[in-house]
Amino acid sequence: MTADETAIDRLIALLDASQRGVVFTGAGISTESGIPDFRSPGGIWAKYRPIDFQEFMASEGARRAYWRRKFATHEAVAGAEPNRGHLAVTELVRRGKVSAVITQNIDGLHQASGVPADCIIELHGNTTYAHCLNCGREYDLEPIREAFLAGETLPLCGACGGLVKTATVSFGQAMPEAEMRRAREESVACDLFLTIGSSLVVYPAAGFPALAKESGAVLVIVNREPTGLDDLADLVINAEIGPTLDAAVNGSK
Ligand code: NAD
Repeated sequence: MTADETAIDRLIALLDASQRGVVFTGAGISTESGIPDFRSPGGIWAKYRPIDFQEFMASEGARRAYWRRKFATHEAVAGAEPNRGHLAVTELVRRGKVSAVITQNIDGLHQASGVPADCIIELHGNTTYAHCLNCGREYDLEPIREAFLAGETLPLCGACGGLVKTATVSFGQAMPEAEMRRAREESVACDLFLTIGSSLVVYPAAGFPALAKESGAVLVIVNREPTGLDDLADLVINAEIGPTLDAAVNGSK
């Protein structure tokens, strides 16, 4: 599905007119890098039930199921490269058009595509490393993976003995306060809010497009299928993300 030229021209005009844009991304921006999203057919939820935070904390069995699931999907993330969509977002940041990239994604591909770390607000954390839930110490995944695959050994913190988990925010786990605050500030301050590849059903993250719109920003939604917020948006483009953003940002056909 490709966007028609009128829609691309409207997006170009909105980007030109904007002084301070914010990009908000979901799993859809990374499917062209080979990472399945959650809700599309064949996506992650079709195969694996998520382990929520309370289950993870409560039982070793749940923690084993968590790490089994993590390492079953690990290769797709570990081997992924940024695609045209990520690179177009990076270009908007480089041009000074976009002050922040708020992402629900946990794959680290905005960092890998060259967006400076201080411009990225990760609402749901990052699955490319682990950390201790007690003292916060960070851990590489590879030694954890080797020990787990060898004997389903569960990782514990070498410093304090706390439980170690990927640095992601699980269902039932508190949202990160500083990131939520920054995301709110950026949403209120921007004049253009560009939502890319999110079904906009996971709250509180999906509240930011509405907050930006209420605060006076122009709201653009780029997604293959309709979302619950399309009625609020000034421009909705139902098309593939990579070619659409590449055309709007780099003028490619
Ligand atoms: P989602 O799966 O609910 O929605 C993704 C949307 O993107 C869908 O509506 C789909 O139609 C659309 N889409 C997929 N590929 C597309 C493409 N190439 N072009 C245009 N549209 C495309 O994802 P969500 O809204 O981000 O919410 C799910 C949660 O899952 C998030 O909180 C996120 O943390 C997590 N998640 C992250 C990753 C990742 O980091 N890459 C992957 C899966 C899930």
